[in-house]
Amino acid sequence: MSTFVSLKNFSHTPTFRLTSTYLTIIMLMSIAFSTVFYNTSVRQLERPLPQRGFGMREEVFRQTFGTEFDSLLEERTRQAKNTLLVRLVILNSGALAVGAVLSYYLARKSLRPIEETMDAQTQFVSDASHEIRTPLTVLETTNEVALRKTKISQQEIRELLGYNIAEVRKLKDLSNALLDLLKNPDKETVLRDIEIQDALGEALASVVPAALVKNIKVVDKVDKLSVKSDSTLLARLFSILLDNAVKYSEQNKKIIITSSVQTKYVTINFKDQGMGISASDLPHIFRRFYRADKSRTAQYENGYGLGLALAERLAQRLDAKIFVESTQGKGSTFSVKIPR
Ligand code: ADP
Repeated sequence: MSTFVSLKNFSHTPTFRLTSTYLTIIMLMSIAFSTVFYNTSVRQLERPLPQRGFGMREEVFRQTFGTEFDSLLEERTRQAKNTLLVRLVILNSGALAVGAVLSYYLARKSLRPIEETMDAQTQFVSDASHEIRTPLTVLETTNEVALRKTKISQQEIRELLGYNIAEVRKLKDLSNALLDLLKNPDKETVLRDIEIQDALGEALASVVPAALVKNIKVVDKVDKLSVKSDSTLLARLFSILLDNAVKYSEQNKKIIITSSVQTKYVTINFKDQGMGISASDLPHIFRRFYRADKSRTAQYENGYGLGLALAERLAQRLDAKIFVESTQGKGSTFSVKIPR
């Protein structure tokens, strides 16, 4: 019963449909080939004997054996046709069995990357919903509590509104980050000669306010260099790394940006003196929604674990690569290797 049910379920799967399509193609080709082969062979078997050469001997045979000769010839043709038919049926049954296994294998192979993409999408949507639901629930609860109060002071109303605005801003940041991640994944980026300082300047401008609040000094030691890239996307990538460097550093620390030149690449290093990343977290930090446990503490709030996933996506579009070295408690260095 359960075998029947699982077979019935299997018949609705994409694997089954693709296997059937492949198998149908294989069998159509095999049957078409067999039909042509059978018809050609039968035509050859039923061809009258040639007059010259064999014709004389045929006459002698016919005179000796009479009509038996014709029946013998007919019998042999019939037997040859039957043998041919049986062999072709066996051959096609073999093709059906081998074709079924081959089709299943090919179907699994073709569907695996699609299934992986679908799984990743499902995971992404469920993680994103979870991240959105949490601040929404907090918003709902705080507002409900405030609404239930019979008396509420002007001061409390102001605090509540301030809190609401802060939470809405966070949600806006999250939705922007999600949109950035999903935007034009396949769009080809045109890489042009750009000045690295232009992109870096733009990124620095976006983190200066946050750095000032924590009295973090950002030292730019990058040389005047030209790279093959896209200024806007590169500035976005740099600002994600700088934003993290500021976010995961305590007050009064330093961030130093340096550059080095190789034959085909320019490498830009962002070195901070922040909390660092543990060896166990390091392999996962580029995953969507991944946040090291320590970075979830109130001291390092404000993040959804999407920044580095986005940075990596940007690096791919720019033919660049991101590397990270980090020692927990001492700091991290994120390096971006950009084509020249
Ligand atoms: P977010 O910063 O929003 O949490 P990211 O994808 O930018 O998400 O970073 C993922 C995680 O990697 C962070 O939560 C943090 O644990 C770690 N991380 C990233 N950059 C740094 C850094 N410069 N110093 C320490 N930890 C970092």
